[in-house]
Amino acid sequence: MLPNFFDSVLELIIRTSTDLAPDVRAAMKVAMTVEPAGTQAAQALTIIAENIDQAAADEGAICQDTGMPTFEIMAPIGANQAWMTGRIHEAIAEATRRGKLRPNSVDSITGKNSGNNLGPGTPVIHFEQWERPEIEIRLLLKGGGCENTNIQYAVPCELPHLGRADRNLDGVRKCILHAVWQAQGKGCSPGAIGVCIGGDRASGYLHAKRQLFRTLDDVNPDPALARLEAEVMGTVNDLGIGTMGFGGRTTLIGCKVGALNRLPACYFVSVAYDCWCFRRVGVVLDKTTGAITGWLYRDPSHPALPMIDQAGFTRTGREVVLTSPITEAEIRALKVGDVVLLNGRMYTGRDSVHAYLMKHDAPVELNGGVLYHCGPVVLKDGDGWKMMAAGPTTSIREEPYQGDVIRKFGIRAVIGKGGMGAKTLQALQDAGAVYLSAIGGAAQFYARCVKKVPGVSLLEFGVPEALWHLDVADFPVIVTMDSHGNSLHKEIETESAKRLAVMD
Ligand code: SF4
Repeated sequence: MLPNFFDSVLELIIRTSTDLAPDVRAAMKVAMTVEPAGTQAAQALTIIAENIDQAAADEGAICQDTGMPTFEIMAPIGANQAWMTGRIHEAIAEATRRGKLRPNSVDSITGKNSGNNLGPGTPVIHFEQWERPEIEIRLLLKGGGCENTNIQYAVPCELPHLGRADRNLDGVRKCILHAVWQAQGKGCSPGAIGVCIGGDRASGYLHAKRQLFRTLDDVNPDPALARLEAEVMGTVNDLGIGTMGFGGRTTLIGCKVGALNRLPACYFVSVAYDCWCFRRVGVVLDKTTGAITGWLYRDPSHPALPMIDQAGFTRTGREVVLTSPITEAEIRALKVGDVVLLNGRMYTGRDSVHAYLMKHDAPVELNGGVLYHCGPVVLKDGDGWKMMAAGPTTSIREEPYQGDVIRKFGIRAVIGKGGMGAKTLQALQDAGAVYLSAIGGAAQFYARCVKKVPGVSLLEFGVPEALWHLDVADFPVIVTMDSHGNSLHKEIETESAKRLAVMD
């Protein structure tokens, strides 16, 4: 039965995780050309571009968060869907074993990571039948950072800075603008959004996510929705949120809107936000062998052009070079906008580690140290470990804990993405610490800055949630919250809110 099916699905997963489709590359190239050289957005885009090339060249995960694998499958009548589901599960487990997917499936009751990306609800597989002979499989890998910025509106509603959104396309437009604004850089902008008008709460989100399977350069067949998409794309980048929320000219690279019928009483607008690391690819399979007969979104006979045509991220000489442990004086000298090159030891820590540190002593010395919000992909390598992917995760989740953790352990620098809130900003001032933004999704770029993984603590939390010990060299980050009460994130949010208000 379909002897090549497993290999085809495995190849699809690996390709999706490691090589961005040409339409996304083209949109990111445009984003690179419109940002003035030397800006924080331009620097971030250079790192992103370098990362995309590194991932494709070495077949490494573009971003360490390989997301929730979501398969949309068109199968001929009579195809054995249960058998195909079994092989897809095997391919997912194999891709995880090879480090192409991060173990991302967590038991919601016990917190235990299954370790192979399998478990109730993981992966997501939707089958539909069609009267054609071939099998078509599309795969979307959408990470947690951007998933957390999805939003659903029950219209009519009052929107901050935009006023009332009514039950018409102008109300939908307002919801979309608000969705992009509230995401700021937390979903690793520039993003692409799928939108559903109508449906119920569940079908609305599903249909919104399905819009992400459209190509970025297509035109909506419904003229009214095509006009809405064009109108959003014509104005949304004036918000000035920019790459990673650093400010800049490109906030969104795509807006795709669909519609479902609704109940008379309900009018939902559901928005699925995907990040710049917009991973979706598809294959067409022979119905008798399961071998790949064609690709969707990409043409293997035309290899993608490199994103970087010059040197990539280079030093300007203005960077501040710091080696941990870092002193308070070194931290107090930093201000928002400084680029820092970090050296020495840092430790990863995200949700489970923060919750643990609130109640326990640290298993390592954190005084003067650097805490990295990162859930890496790490493989066992003999007696040691090999870093496969190591970009930052969204920091705002740690807002309830971060200030207390900084004060309790004397941490001097926290690295993450998307910024943090008022409580952390106050702790940075009080304790003499700093928040440093790494570039979201740049997992291959940062993995190359990790020279050694000398150990790990709290591995019982699972690979992404463990406290990894990393020795790094020239790890580039940008100061976006300093010890003097300044926050680039707060500044951009306030400024973009003013711009949003005039889009009413
Ligand atoms: S690029 Fe950012 S939002 Fe996207 S999957 Fe990676 S960390 Fe998450």
